[in-house]
Amino acid sequence: MNNVETLCHVKYIVEVGGEAFAKIGTPNNTGTRIFCVSGHVQRPGYYEFPCGTITMGQLLNEVCGGPLPGRKFKAVIPGGSSAKILRFGERFKGKRKVGNDMVDYDWGVEDVPLDFDSLGMIGTMGGSGGVIVMDDSVNMVEALANINAFYSHESCGQCTPCREGSLWMKKITTRMVHGQARTEDAALLKGVADQIPGRTICAFGEACSWPTQSFLAKFGDEFKATPRPGRRPKPEDLIV
Ligand code: SF4
Repeated sequence: MNNVETLCHVKYIVEVGGEAFAKIGTPNNTGTRIFCVSGHVQRPGYYEFPCGTITMGQLLNEVCGGPLPGRKFKAVIPGGSSAKILRFGERFKGKRKVGNDMVDYDWGVEDVPLDFDSLGMIGTMGGSGGVIVMDDSVNMVEALANINAFYSHESCGQCTPCREGSLWMKKITTRMVHGQARTEDAALLKGVADQIPGRTICAFGEACSWPTQSFLAKFGDEFKATPRPGRRPKPEDLIV
């Protein structure tokens, strides 16, 4: 099994050769990227561009038509749900290589070129190209609970940190969503997520922990829930 982008690339490379493919895009980020944009934009869809020739702002505003009426962009996950989330309004500063020179950059989320190096420099990744857009209607605890349910289900169970960690992250965010959060839950959630990366035999350990780590880092205030009455989680919400 492979993804559509890879199959498209292979077909093209077989037809024209690797050298011709490598001339597309930008230095060190060659070829094309296929972005699968989902969520809160006017024209979600599947868009292909030479790598690094379009920014996040151009993709979301010009290609995808911008936010839904009356809404503002709140966050975007640039490379599939395991990629660390970006918060609109945050800025990224540093130096990057352009030709033979090192130049300063100062980017908002909209300014980031969609290539592997640039997304890596700002602490996330190009990953699968699955661009998930969230506007200001989204509750980030609910969004993370949805992601955590997915990763908990997908863990194969071979490594204890991934098997137990993904399950516990799901349990904690589920009880937060259902109004059963404990005072210590935000810290507990971070503690669980921080103990998974680097302790598993495949990259799924990182993949399942990065969403929780980045949601907490970028939207920590939304996770500081205090215990409050609410509907108790259903048993099926708490098991894999
Ligand atoms: S890290 Fe990979 S191998 Fe280990 S339990 Fe998770 S999915 Fe399975």
